Amino acid sequence: MIPRQYVLGARDAAVEGSRVRVDYRGVSGWVDLGDVKQVDKTTVGATLDSYTDQEYAAVLQSQVAAFCPDVRYDVSASPDRAGKYNASHSAVFSTVDGVKTATSSIAINFGRKDLPDPEFSLVRSINSHECGHVVQFRVYPPDPQTGALNGGLGEVSEKYWGGTDKPGEHFADCIADQMGVSRSGESWNTSGRWISGYGRECSPTQADVARRVLAGERVS
Ligand SMILES: [Zn+2]
Repeated sequence: MIPRQYVLGARDAAVEGSRVRVDYRGVSGWVDLGDVKQVDKTTVGATLDSYTDQEYAAVLQSQVAAFCPDVRYDVSASPDRAGKYNASHSAVFSTVDGVKTATSSIAINFGRKDLPDPEFSLVRSINSHECGHVVQFRVYPPDPQTGALNGGLGEVSEKYWGGTDKPGEHFADCIADQMGVSRSGESWNTSGRWISGYGRECSPTQADVARRVLAGERVS
């Protein structure tokens, strides 16, 4: 199903009867002329009207469902839909014996004006990076009372990613890599700049630690 108000590419604009050939996410197919109208746009993709907030959140959820199944998304719009949107994770962390100990939320500030398509690779990689933080906290739980990261996350980040300015962030990037996302591109919003990834590759050792942590292993 093609989202509403989605700008499709028309490689050759071939018309056959009442149908026209268009491209959608790399797939070519025929749609009824009555279902589309020609627009003067060079950028192909979703518009702000293509997804409701709930639909946008549902796509984010589906992207990381395999890795962060217990994460809930809330997407709240600014009144004019032009500004900053917030998608936040709320995750439940458990102790090793499976008892619920704490919840935490991680905010993703998307400017949906600039990123109206939740399938865009930059959105997906940012989303996966944030899921990577949830994975970190799941494997290295924060203190249930204070939220302090004394569960070993700081130590493992320093041990394998030390020497970089933000070891825990690079660690989360390496987890995102293991989810199969492509880290590239950047975007601005009202609170600053989103960079997909912190600009560094993961060494073979870092990739291996990230893969094991993603699988739930408490690497020390
Ligand atoms: Zn981060």
